[in-house]
Amino acid sequence: MALLNNTPANLYIYIENMVVVWGEKVYVVNSIYTKDKYIYFDINDPETLKTFNVRQSNENLILIIKNDLGIAIELEHTGLELTFDGINKKALMTKLNSVNKNSQEYKNELKEAILILSNRGLNPSVYNLPLCCIDEEIRQFSCKSISSWKNSLLDKCSRCIKNNECAGFFTTSSILPIDDIKPFI
Ligand code: SF4
Repeated sequence: MALLNNTPANLYIYIENMVVVWGEKVYVVNSIYTKDKYIYFDINDPETLKTFNVRQSNENLILIIKNDLGIAIELEHTGLELTFDGINKKALMTKLNSVNKNSQEYKNELKEAILILSNRGLNPSVYNLPLCCIDEEIRQFSCKSISSWKNSLLDKCSRCIKNNECAGFFTTSSILPIDDIKPFI
């Protein structure tokens, strides 16, 4: 874990082993030390931080850390999360990037990824998955995210006691995990 103040000398900050989660992707960012004031995540070059002494207006640059005379101040952005974990960063990347599978295959990986993020103080969410298709341990992170006009449930969902809080399915989905849909009674 490393976001160190006044390192390696006064007025410098040291950013080590940082992982940026942004736009549903995970980027391992090169470690740097700098005494520049503004540190940006670069959408066009996500593994290399950019530093400046004046604020930038380039829309590809997201200001993520300020160096206040050797004190690192982390800034918050919707949809962008920073984590510092040199030991587990590759495991975290693998888990998050492997979630794009189907049916039962992703269940354990999704659970592990969400719990890793949550245990590190982040606030993950699970979108667009029915409650009965995700592990019980991460149901608390589920969001009812599909707009009502494009959301649907199956006939058997009418007897499910969780159908009001369930994300359901996209009306346009051509393949549904029918066998996994098990109403809570
Ligand atoms: S049975 Fe239907 S309503 Fe209940 S959790 Fe599963 S998909 Fe949602």
